[in-house]
Amino acid sequence: MTNKDIHFSKLLMDVYASPTATLKYPNISNWDFSPFGLTEQDLIHSVYLVFDQVLKLPELYHISITQAQLYDFIIDLASVYHNQNPYHNFAHAVDVLQCLFYMLCELGVLPFTNKFLQKSKPQSLLRPKDVFALLIAAIGHDAAHPGINSSNPLATLYNDKSVLESLHAMTLFQLLNKHGIDRLVGDSKSEAYKVVSSILATDMSLHNDYVSKIKEQANRFNNTNSHLDEQDERNLLCSALIKCADISNVARPFHWGTKWAELLVQEFISQGDLEKQMGLPVLPMNDRTKVVLEDSQINFIKFVALDLFQNVANVLNEIEFAADQMKKNLRRWESRKKNIEYEQEEFDIVSNSSTTHMIMVETGIKRSSSSLDLQHHDVKRRPSIEKYPVNNTDDRDAPVYCQCSIQ
Ligand SMILES: [Zn+2]
Repeated sequence: MTNKDIHFSKLLMDVYASPTATLKYPNISNWDFSPFGLTEQDLIHSVYLVFDQVLKLPELYHISITQAQLYDFIIDLASVYHNQNPYHNFAHAVDVLQCLFYMLCELGVLPFTNKFLQKSKPQSLLRPKDVFALLIAAIGHDAAHPGINSSNPLATLYNDKSVLESLHAMTLFQLLNKHGIDRLVGDSKSEAYKVVSSILATDMSLHNDYVSKIKEQANRFNNTNSHLDEQDERNLLCSALIKCADISNVARPFHWGTKWAELLVQEFISQGDLEKQMGLPVLPMNDRTKVVLEDSQINFIKFVALDLFQNVANVLNEIEFAADQMKKNLRRWESRKKNIEYEQEEFDIVSNSSTTHMIMVETGIKRSSSSLDLQHHDVKRRPSIEKYPVNNTDDRDAPVYCQCSIQ
């Protein structure tokens, strides 16, 4: 028996042998969900529970897929994620999938037995096969990404952007084929296949163009005289939902948003450390001496995420709750920043009046001090920056540097 077989048997035992097994995962239906603290087995089971809801749909009955087949696919998919990455790992994929699942439930699209979904609503364009394609895209959207953020200097050393962009899709479709699940998605000419590929191929660097398209879509839905091309509108809705899900950390309850933000910065500065070692220029967002957690979150929400969510909520009103939570989170980050600035002023007054020797590094984020008390004070002010380990590229367990789009 291989390790994988043993792993699979344990999973089956967990699911079938324990009558209370499903009670372990009540929070996949909760916006307060987080994958933190879940084992890989728990994560795999959470994914199974989401897909199980969709595969029970009468519209997809013609495709028979066994529970074992589905599990085997999820286990394989989990194994191609680079879990050494602080951020872009299988837990992130599960988080994106759960977010999408939650939003689809809020929209009344799931469960499909929902009799209250009005035909006039934009989300009524989403059919079971589109939802299946969306969920597949969500769980596979960062599969096997080995690389570097393509906007960073290190990427230009050896990355061919077009190859990297198709890597997630290639890996995902190979696994779908291997496990006989590609029949659900169809061949390369099918609509569902096109939905999955177009979602995976969407270039997030074109964020502003993308937000403009969603604004236009809101106008079309609000103007009864507009001509709607159903397939185009459907594709845009699918992309909108998955893009929101991909950056939904900033719309989660603040305690989870903070944790995700720290992990993301950790991944970025690991990349920056490597770029420095190689003598390459380093973007401020990847530079441990320049990055400020609060600023990165405030700017990301203000200039990227809020605009996207608010415009999507103009089309799909039910996701307004996420934009509201994001605004609350923004206020929390802003108040944290003010407190830090206040503490910094206090700190400067104390340090100027003492004999302490201080070294300000460029933006003043990092300091060293001969005073243990002041060092402690400093660590308290910047816990999420100070605790990041300096990356050692000779270390086999070093993070795999992951390409990311916006986040
Ligand atoms: Zn992602």
